[in-house]
Amino acid sequence: MEDSKKHQGLRRQLIQDLRSKGIISESVLMVMLKTPRHFFMDQGLINFAYHDQAYPIAADQTISQPFTVAFQSQLLDVESKHKVLEIGTGSGYQTAILLGLTPNVFTLERQQELFKKTQHLFKKLHLHPKRFIFGDGYNGLPDAAPFDRIIVTAGAPLVPKELLNQLALGGKLVIPVGQKQQQMMRFTRTSEKSFDKEAFGSFNFVPLLSDKI
Ligand code: SAH
Repeated sequence: MEDSKKHQGLRRQLIQDLRSKGIISESVLMVMLKTPRHFFMDQGLINFAYHDQAYPIAADQTISQPFTVAFQSQLLDVESKHKVLEIGTGSGYQTAILLGLTPNVFTLERQQELFKKTQHLFKKLHLHPKRFIFGDGYNGLPDAAPFDRIIVTAGAPLVPKELLNQLALGGKLVIPVGQKQQQMMRFTRTSEKSFDKEAFGSFNFVPLLSDKI
């Protein structure tokens, strides 16, 4: 896979576009500038990699829109010492952005086809999340908890209790909540039993799937 001058130029334009849409986190913009999104897209869609849009990947899923990746990453406010859990690995693009912010990334995907494909891609790109697990994000990852940050990249009909339980004190969960359309929510754990709750506008995600509900 090759990162050409043309792609780097398109990425610079995308970063300008993200700035004009209100993204201000320099660390997030820097990592997005360095990360070739076209590596994470299907061969036939590579020419669209630096358009600010979501595109289909395998298993009827989508690679999130760059604005959404930037927005969620900015809300997550990741520091290099943080331990981060991502639910919904998909193409692995958001995972790569997280790995540019901290080495301590754990990520979960529940579609077998995507899991295998992205596992292969991570190897090829020398991307090494701490763990990449085939599993159901509704359960979180209890044996690696607590997490400083949790990000959900699919629309959750409700906020999974397990994810709130697995936040460290002061930890943050960024999650799009809703059925047809989602509200971007951020929960911050302020004590054993209490959470601050903030809302950041409407988004459209593929659903967070469950065998349970
Ligand atoms: N961050 C990804 C987004 C992919 S779309 C990207 O930009 O490529 C959301 C992903 O969540 C899909 O890959 C979907 O298979 C996965 N997903 C849906 N429900 C899930 C669940 N319960 N647990 C883990 N992953 C889930």
